[in-house]
This record gives sequence, C-alpha cells and structure tokens, in this order.
Amino acid sequence: MSTRNEQIRENVAIVKERIATAAKRSGRTASDVTLLAVTKRVSLEDIRSAAEAGVKVIGENKIQEAKTKFLHLGPSLSWHMLGHLQTNKVRPAVAMFNMVESLDSVRLADSLDREAALFERTLDVLIEVNIGGEAQKFGVVPENALTFLRYVESKENLRLNGFMAMAPYVDDVELVRPLFRKLKQLFDEARQSVKNPEHWSVLSMGMTQDFEVAVEEGATLVRIGTGLFATPSPLRRVE
Ligand SMILES: *Cc1c(COP(=O)(O)O)cnc(C)c1O
Repeated sequence: MSTRNEQIRENVAIVKERIATAAKRSGRTASDVTLLAVTKRVSLEDIRSAAEAGVKVIGENKIQEAKTKFLHLGPSLSWHMLGHLQTNKVRPAVAMFNMVESLDSVRLADSLDREAALFERTLDVLIEVNIGGEAQKFGVVPENALTFLRYVESKENLRLNGFMAMAPYVDDVELVRPLFRKLKQLFDEARQSVKNPEHWSVLSMGMTQDFEVAVEEGATLVRIGTGLFATPSPLRRVE
C-alpha cells in the first residue's frame, strides 16, 4: 500500500515520462513542455504533494476556491486562471494569478487591463480559442483569434503570451489531432505579426485524455488534473 503522497509523486513521474516521450516523437525535449497541475476540487495536501514532486505551475478554475489555496501556498508556485472569468471577479484574479489563460472577450480584456493598471502590474494572458466550435465552451472561434489578438495587444497592462484551447471530449483522441494542428498553425502564423514575438511563447493545449497528442502537435504547456489526482490514475508508465 502506498500513501496518497507517494501515489501523487508516482503520477507526476508518469506524466513527465509520457510528456518526454511525446516531445521526443515531435523532435523536441521534455524541457520544451511545462506541466501545469489542474487543482480544482483538489486538497491543499495533494497540491503540496504535487509541488514536492516538482510541479511548479498550478491551474484553478474558480476564484473562491483558488483564494484559500493561494493564501496557504502563495508565491512559491505560479498560479494560472483557467476558468471563465466574470468581470466582477477580476480584481481578486489580478491580485492572485500570474497568468489568465481564459481571456475570451473584449470586455474581459478591458477589465483585466484596468485592474492590472490599479495594481501597477503587467498581467500575462493567453487568448482562449474554441477549437472545437462547441457552443457550451468559452473562447473565441479560430476565425476571430487574430482580430481579437490585435485588440489585446493594444492593452498596455496585458502581456499576450499565446493561446489556450480545450479540445472536445472524444472516444478516439486521434479525432482532436487536426484541431491541435490547426491551432499550432495559427500560433505560428500569429508570431509573424505580433508586437512582441519574444513573449509569444505559450501554446496551452492538452489535458489528461489528449496531452500526448497535444505535445506531438506542438503544445508548450499541458494542463493535467485527473491524471495526477484521480484514484486510481487513468495513466500508466510508458511500456
Ligand atoms: C479541468 C480542466 C483541465 C484538466 O482536465 P483533466 O481531464 O482532469 O486533466 C484542463 N484545462 C481546463 C481548462 C480544465 O477546466
């Protein structure tokens, strides 16, 4: 019997090993891909275990839930907001998060920019792209991503780093490969025209079901929840 702490350490090791193997298949290395642990509904203890195992970036979906965790673990980790952000929650978000990955509207860009100015800080952001065109998901459709990008770039207190996307849930992960590939193309195309190409470096795509495909298609950051914290984890060692 292993303890919960050991299980999580093992899960982190498995995910890292799988990232490294997938990166190699696409001619890259493990260090090109950041592992973000998605900690919605995950306890403080379990987050500590993941941090001990080397996870440095944490993703949360809700402000209220993130607050308690941030109070305890705070600046020793990097905090990314992943969930849809309502404009009345923008202030605590700007106070806590290092990056907002779920920037999905002009209104939110305006609001984040204004709050960041009040905090006298620059906020790192990703534009969320709805690559599956799903009505229930947030994000701008790929056709509007470059227009929205121009708008975000005009905001003085926002620093645009790249794109974030969530693929549809599917039985066969190969079905999402073309969606990831298209977003990578858009990401590369955008680099040609962004104001600060040196900051255009984050392609956040891939979750437990599809992170290896995402890495093969060029992801630089994968967001894993279930694969790290579910018991038992659905992931195994690379054969
Ligand atoms: C929950 C969540 C994840 C992680 O999903 P898993 O399937 O548990 O790995 C990643 N990204 C976002 C935006 C999420 O909400």
